[in-house]
Amino acid sequence: MFLDRDGTLIEEAGYPDRFERLVFYPYSVDAVRLFNRGGFAVIIVTNQAGVARGIFPETFVADAHRYLTGRLERGGARVDGFYYCPHHPEASVPEYKRACDCRKPRPGLLTQAAADLNIDLTRSFVVGDRWHDIEAGQAVGARSLLVRTGYGRTEEASRKPGVVPAATVDNLIAAASWILRAS
Ligand SMILES: [Mg+2]
Ligand SMILES: [Zn+2]
Repeated sequence: MFLDRDGTLIEEAGYPDRFERLVFYPYSVDAVRLFNRGGFAVIIVTNQAGVARGIFPETFVADAHRYLTGRLERGGARVDGFYYCPHHPEASVPEYKRACDCRKPRPGLLTQAAADLNIDLTRSFVVGDRWHDIEAGQAVGARSLLVRTGYGRTEEASRKPGVVPAATVDNLIAAASWILRAS
């Protein structure tokens, strides 16, 4: 189960650079727990171009993921891995300026996690609020769901040719019930 972070698991907050801006949707911990109980590995895959743009250091991304892990654990939920892309082709921080394979819609975060955790991508699901999340899933043969939180409603209104989600649902908990029925 590959989940986008900002706008899907937590509220979309631009470039969140403080813990106070990392806010779970009210149902997010429950959704992750449902995936845990369903026997899925739960992987967060997130573009974090705020690093490339010099808005926050890469160490903050690791701190943020420790913070989110703690909040999930207190709710009895578990994430099996966090994978992020710190790059951007027009980065202001030179060491992060590149056209990488890990920035969604490229599927590098998915293929890396699949290699690390021995995951069959064709039996996987991707949930995200942007077309680039759906494209990354399509690229590896996963079923992908667009949620209407974050940028999702805006994205839904401007379809992208060739990018077709398996379903469009209101939010992550609706995605969880769709997926648990479908799998
Ligand atoms: Mg997002
Ligand atoms: Zn990257």
